[in-house]
Amino acid sequence: MRRFRFVKWVLRPDTEPDAPPVTHRFRCIALDDSDDECGAYSAAFTDPSRAQEWAFGHWRANPDHTGFAETVERPWVMWMDGPA
Ligand SMILES: [Zn+2]
Repeated sequence: MRRFRFVKWVLRPDTEPDAPPVTHRFRCIALDDSDDECGAYSAAFTDPSRAQEWAFGHWRANPDHTGFAETVERPWVMWMDGPA
């Protein structure tokens, strides 16, 4: 007879001290004359204001590039949450 031990797993944001950091990245979504996206993007920063500084810098260099999208990367982890 085979016996199975069922364990309940949940997926949750990883807030442990050793978890990867939440990061913020901005991408320029301005369109050129051919409707192609500029696509320039910042590095991934743990401090969102640094990503916003990049957007200001990109806009100063390209005053008609006024649209941006932010990507936030948040670590999640599978967590064993006791028997099912
Ligand atoms: Zn741009």
